[in-house]
Amino acid sequence: MSAAYGLMAMILGIESTAHTLSFGLVSQDGEALPSSSDLYAPDEGGIHPREAADHHSEIAGHLLQNLMETNSLNSSDISAIAFSQGPGLGPCLRVGASIARGLSHSWDVPLVGVNHCVAHIEIGRNQTKCDDPVLLYVSGGNTQIIARKGGRYRVLGETLDIGIGNMLDKFARTHGMAFPGGPKVESLASKWLSSDSTRTLDRISLPYAVQGMDLSFSGIMTAANQKVADGHPLEEVCWALQEHVFAACIEVAERAMAHAGKDELLLGGGVACNARINEMARIMCDERGATAYCPPKPFCVDNGTMIAELGRRMLSVSETTELSESAISPGLRTDQTIVRWN
Ligand code: AMP
Ligand code: MG
Repeated sequence: MSAAYGLMAMILGIESTAHTLSFGLVSQDGEALPSSSDLYAPDEGGIHPREAADHHSEIAGHLLQNLMETNSLNSSDISAIAFSQGPGLGPCLRVGASIARGLSHSWDVPLVGVNHCVAHIEIGRNQTKCDDPVLLYVSGGNTQIIARKGGRYRVLGETLDIGIGNMLDKFARTHGMAFPGGPKVESLASKWLSSDSTRTLDRISLPYAVQGMDLSFSGIMTAANQKVADGHPLEEVCWALQEHVFAACIEVAERAMAHAGKDELLLGGGVACNARINEMARIMCDERGATAYCPPKPFCVDNGTMIAELGRRMLSVSETTELSESAISPGLRTDQTIVRWN
């Protein structure tokens, strides 16, 4: 038992929905510790689910050992095992679920299957102390605008095709930048901003796809690729692409806040690491007397700690997952999970 955490047992969380395998910890009173994570980055092309799953299997033992040693913990310090039950890629989810079942059995502690999307909300609430936000969830595979109402996190709007992060990754890959592309697009966009004092979008119009409360990103990606082919500097296209897609997300988020009567906006998912979308969120919230929140970057990207945190909240209302109920759920929706905790 580590001196730092006294007699406080920890909840172990396992994240394996897609490219990231991650183990994380929260104490029973909600102190979130850094995760031990590794990212599967393909040499070329997008994520191959089987190869990502092989990566997860190979690295799991090392990551878990690293987490336990870093925090001077042994198995008797762990009071429950939480894992991502869905949504995600089947082969990847299966690796995390198998490890979770094995640890729960051999350490004789409860198993808690959690909804990955809901975990992004709960780690954001844990980290920022916002209470009842609209969540703008912008990650690789998911883009959703979510608010809690009537015991569920309701999806008020979402992408009709690909996730915003996948779009940035694909666009970047087309122009020779390896996964993850989002941070590279951000740094080229900043470069353009510092070189172009006019900051005008007049030279480069892109389709802006907001459809009611929904969004789409594949058309704008095609159009942005065409702008590069037409001879626009890549930096300029990166900047214009960010301006368009982030504005679309913020527009829908603002409408969701107005409809749902909420005055907090929480960002989550890997794209929430981007400084520009944070700036836009702040400006929009300032203008309507609301507050924008974003957790620290390690808790925006997929991480095991967020899974542990949702597991902790579910345990607080005595929710655990029997072995017979622990099958993965690749198509799990945000609003399928009944929210009984605070
Ligand atoms: P997640 O799926 O939540 O783990 O997030 C991964 C996604 O976040 C990938 O698509 C990354 O390209 C994207 N991402 C990470 N950092 C940034 C950034 N600074 N700007 C834009 N996208 C980012
Ligand atoms: Mg995610």
